[in-house]
Amino acid sequence: VWNNCLAFIEDNIQPQAFKTWFEPIKPVKLADNALSIQVPSKFFYEWLEEHYVKLLKVALTKELGETAKLVYIIRMENTYGNREPFTEKIPSSNRSHVGAQEMDVPIKSKNPELRNPFVIPGIRNIKIESQLNPNYNFDNFLEGDSNRLARSAGMAVANKPGGTSFNPLLVFGGVGLGKTHLAHAIGVEIKDKYPERTVLYISAEKFTQQYIESVKKNTRNDFIHFYQLIDVLIIDDVQFLSGKSGTQDVFFHIFNHLHQNGKQVVLTSDKAPVDMQDIEQRLLSRFKWGLSAELQNPDYETRISILKNKLYRDGVEMPDDIVDYVAKHIKTNIRELEGAIISLIAQSSFNKKEVTLELAQQVVEKFVKNTKREVSIDYIQKVVSDYFEMDVATLQSKTRKRHIVQARQLAMFFAKKFTKASLASIGSQIGKRDHATVLHACKTVDNLAETDKQFRKYIDDLTKKLS
Ligand code: ADP
Ligand code: MG
Repeated sequence: VWNNCLAFIEDNIQPQAFKTWFEPIKPVKLADNALSIQVPSKFFYEWLEEHYVKLLKVALTKELGETAKLVYIIRMENTYGNREPFTEKIPSSNRSHVGAQEMDVPIKSKNPELRNPFVIPGIRNIKIESQLNPNYNFDNFLEGDSNRLARSAGMAVANKPGGTSFNPLLVFGGVGLGKTHLAHAIGVEIKDKYPERTVLYISAEKFTQQYIESVKKNTRNDFIHFYQLIDVLIIDDVQFLSGKSGTQDVFFHIFNHLHQNGKQVVLTSDKAPVDMQDIEQRLLSRFKWGLSAELQNPDYETRISILKNKLYRDGVEMPDDIVDYVAKHIKTNIRELEGAIISLIAQSSFNKKEVTLELAQQVVEKFVKNTKREVSIDYIQKVVSDYFEMDVATLQSKTRKRHIVQARQLAMFFAKKFTKASLASIGSQIGKRDHATVLHACKTVDNLAETDKQFRKYIDDLTKKLS
């Protein structure tokens, strides 16, 4: 049963996540349609519950039917050195060799309509689930230079929704820098302060799906009406709307209605309004009405405090030099930063290995590799010409001098290897050559790699620099 579940899960998530969170699980027993699985720590179990409970439910229901249950068994000897990181969290009576934490996973929600914000059970008596995640709040959104403006603007909005000039509040920044977290935090805080207000968090993607659905079902007016009832509308990742003119149009109307009525709108985006593409001008100009606040890459101190806070909250101790190593090597994505530390905790707790610097290096390397962006042809030309101490113009020139020809051929070879660009496009970018020239270059490099030791070394060196 478990193997079938695993196969299904593996098809549905990232390989790294699967390795970290599902491989360490051990199936223990199956009785009364309840599958017991052993997980390495309480933290591990919480993570599964928070992130993968739906997937687990689906997988299990497929295997065992609607009455399936899942029981977690938490392995307790989870230590670094001799410490017991979880002693505070688990009642002492449970602190045996194997502590069992029995959890029923309700396979079918009693109230499925409450999970879908876009259900209108009679307009008058409307109930809107805010879709907020209480785990994303201001308390655990740590402040640093990189996010101070956005964070305090968010707090101002939460204190007086619709009553500040930050309307809309647009939070923008790169992947994993806290946009979604901050968006939820604003909503959670408002719900806390003003429980009677209707708050809705929704991703632009889901908003778009709902809109398309409403057009199909001929309920476009209901859709608009529904959104016009909301006091605080939070839309995450509005860049998703680019190129979707129908959705932009309907959003424009909703926005205007809300804004005119003093309702608060909060938006997030991966780009500043000026850099957004394929978003209608009239919508962009609305975005600029309020405040755009950027979430920047966190500085070293902030990275350290985020890591320490994470460890503290999970009741895990870790040597400072390990924390320092992770903070020094993962700089531009808080999700990766957390992912690395979580992976370290998981690996060490499961293998009962102490967290060594070496383990930290391995984990960090994996994270950095996994998320490596494709290198550009420009970058390849730069690296190759630097390596041969020439400038890019020389590399691209028409000269037939042997070492320049070789450098050029190497640049073409790596462009083929490391980018998805076509031969023709590589040729045109590296000194306006045609695709046949690029093909010839790749073959030449392959041949030389086998016959020429010095050349082999060029390839190895450059491969290292580029990857
Ligand atoms: P984005 O939506 O920008 O891609 P997220 O909001 O999903 O990023 O954040 C990625 C992860 O980093 C989340 O787990 C979030 O809790 C965490 N995070 C981001 N910023 C902070 C912060 N200032 N303090 C603590 N955790 C943060
Ligand atoms: Mg996000």
